[in-house]
Amino acid sequence: MKVKIYRGTKEIGGTCVELTADNGKILWIDLGSPLDSNNLDVSYVQNKVDALLISHPHQDHYGLMDAVSGREIPIFIGQLSLDLINAAKIFTARKLSEGNFQFILPYKPFLIAETFKVKAFLTDHSTPESFAFLIEADGKQIFYSGDFRATGRKKVVFEKLIDNPPENIDLLLMEGTMVERTNHLYETEDSVENAILEIISQQENITYVISSGQNIDRFVSVFKACRKAKKKIVIDVYSAWVLEMVAKVSKGIPKIEWEEIKIYLDKRQVDKINHESFNLFRKRIEKETIGNDVFNKPFEFVYFSRRPNLGLIKNLQHHGVINLIYSQWEGYLNDDTHYLAQLINPLKNDKCISYKHIHTSGHATVPDLIKFAKALTAKKIVPIHTASRNKFKEEFEKVGFTSVDIWDDGKEYKL
Ligand SMILES: [Zn+2]
Ligand SMILES: [Zn+2]
Repeated sequence: MKVKIYRGTKEIGGTCVELTADNGKILWIDLGSPLDSNNLDVSYVQNKVDALLISHPHQDHYGLMDAVSGREIPIFIGQLSLDLINAAKIFTARKLSEGNFQFILPYKPFLIAETFKVKAFLTDHSTPESFAFLIEADGKQIFYSGDFRATGRKKVVFEKLIDNPPENIDLLLMEGTMVERTNHLYETEDSVENAILEIISQQENITYVISSGQNIDRFVSVFKACRKAKKKIVIDVYSAWVLEMVAKVSKGIPKIEWEEIKIYLDKRQVDKINHESFNLFRKRIEKETIGNDVFNKPFEFVYFSRRPNLGLIKNLQHHGVINLIYSQWEGYLNDDTHYLAQLINPLKNDKCISYKHIHTSGHATVPDLIKFAKALTAKKIVPIHTASRNKFKEEFEKVGFTSVDIWDDGKEYKL
């Protein structure tokens, strides 16, 4: 078997790995959009391929999927992952993904192109469905870690994997996002929940928690903090739809009818779901709308939102200080061209706003990466999804690993 990483050996984003079996069959793992604007050449998406395997519904892993879907090539993906990709498309008025989709069931082995034996493992990551893959062909075994951490609400799946790891791995392709980032202020989702609880318990006005609607772990952290503090969590129509999709596979997820949840009906979002297939959903959310309560008792509400509503902030500021909790990667705020930087940074100095960054990463820290690699005992480890492959190697060598190999994008390696 031959392995080529089209992108990902030296950047976070645009991940795509190609496996070519001895019989000529070609499988791609992930087909993400590049995040690095210095190199946007993605002409490899036109190359020959027999099947595509998608690890999770983040743009840097599936963003170029539509380049393949039109070619009737089978795309192996989780059903929830596809629902979440389409959720984002519904609310931005884009055409839904079409293609030859084959749905992955975790831990149930399946065969791709009569050649690649695949088993999907759930991972703990900042999206509700994310997979790692064990792939076998030509008597060789590859483990692709996907994106993962060990500190989220699904940490049990990380522990399950390292307690009972697959054996005889020839190659471990492992993510290394955090090699040069730290998580020292908030190490776990639980610590995020507690920090938010502390703030909202004392709020005199509304609190905004800025996060992605698809980060269900974070939503649950805020939801639990609201329940403990006896506050209501306000979500928009898009987040309500995401919850509906997650509820199809996860029974414990909060439902929009629960008393702690209120919905903010943004007209632009409601307009996106005017098709009759959304009739029932529209009726349900209309019953749960926040109404005018927020103007009378703003201290009872916590907005879980992609962005703060400047009009609402202006209307409510006479009630007291408004908390603005930024709850995702701070890097977006350092990029002046990013909409979050343009929106959030000016608010930090506003005297009616109390700003705080409370976040824990969706990616494993170096000690957790090492724990993972020690459990898997692969013959060779190649870092991927990292901007610091040399540092990755150094960190592993410090603790005795001699199996880390640095690869280059676009180069073919024989297993
Ligand atoms: Zn991800
Ligand atoms: Zn990623």
